Amino acid sequence: MQTLDLSDPQTRLIVLTGAGTSAESGIPTYRAMNGLWRTHSIQEVATAYGFLNDPALGWRFYSERRVDALAASPNAGHVALADIEERLGDRFLLVTQNIDGLHQRAGSRRVIELHGNLLHSRCTVCDRPPFADDRLYQELPLPLCEVCTDRAAPGMIRPAVVWFGEAIQGADMARVEKFMESAPRGHLVFLAAGTSGVVTPASAFVEDAKRLAAATWLVNLEPPENVGYFQNVLLGASGAIFPALFGVTPG
Ligand code: NAD
Repeated sequence: MQTLDLSDPQTRLIVLTGAGTSAESGIPTYRAMNGLWRTHSIQEVATAYGFLNDPALGWRFYSERRVDALAASPNAGHVALADIEERLGDRFLLVTQNIDGLHQRAGSRRVIELHGNLLHSRCTVCDRPPFADDRLYQELPLPLCEVCTDRAAPGMIRPAVVWFGEAIQGADMARVEKFMESAPRGHLVFLAAGTSGVVTPASAFVEDAKRLAAATWLVNLEPPENVGYFQNVLLGASGAIFPALFGVTPG
């Protein structure tokens, strides 16, 4: 099994994770044979239009996702990422498309949640910041925002996740860019894992990394859409591969 050489103190590691890195924790991915998009329509449960059209259906779906996330535990892949961060400190950045919070529960701290967090909610109308919320909204009435009640039509509470057609936080994109650009030339390692490589902007990070002469690595069960951009491809489960790849002992 190959091990990443991160011994040079100038080397920086950026890791992009997707739904596959939580699969070994029992959380279904979206695009697998038994994945969530086989049983649910993206338009209905992963767009703002779908939510406003049928918020009860939206909340049933996200309440089930909350139940799954709360029942799950971090797997060996999550733990290995937390361990390598412990060793690299500020030379490490984790960017996840996952909304389940399992990286943080494993101990990761330098994490950008590109698509938000399932266990937070926000208002559909006002700009109150997202707040921690693990409640299940499976029955009517659905929750209204308590902050903008003075409006003629107060907002509804919605999951604080980024749906298709919604923008990623500019500050998150800037942090990714800054981290990659601040690596001395020849000292950036980009690793993607558990992602089908079709959802932008994350799927294009590997192209940005290549422009900066990064070494590019992929860990995935099967070749994703953007496999051609990676120099090193390891096919398999992240929970099995990460501990050896990072040279950390499974705990
Ligand atoms: P995806 O479902 O499109 O693709 C998952 C990829 O992971 C597949 O290529 C699959 O081959 C691979 N995979 C499955 N098990 C694996 C394992 N054990 N180790 C390594 N690879 C494995 O996921 P995506 O690319 O992240 O895009 C889907 C979107 O769905 C994201 O925007 C994300 O926000 C959301 N999502 C999040 C979660 C979560 O938070 N856990 C779960 C489902 C979907």
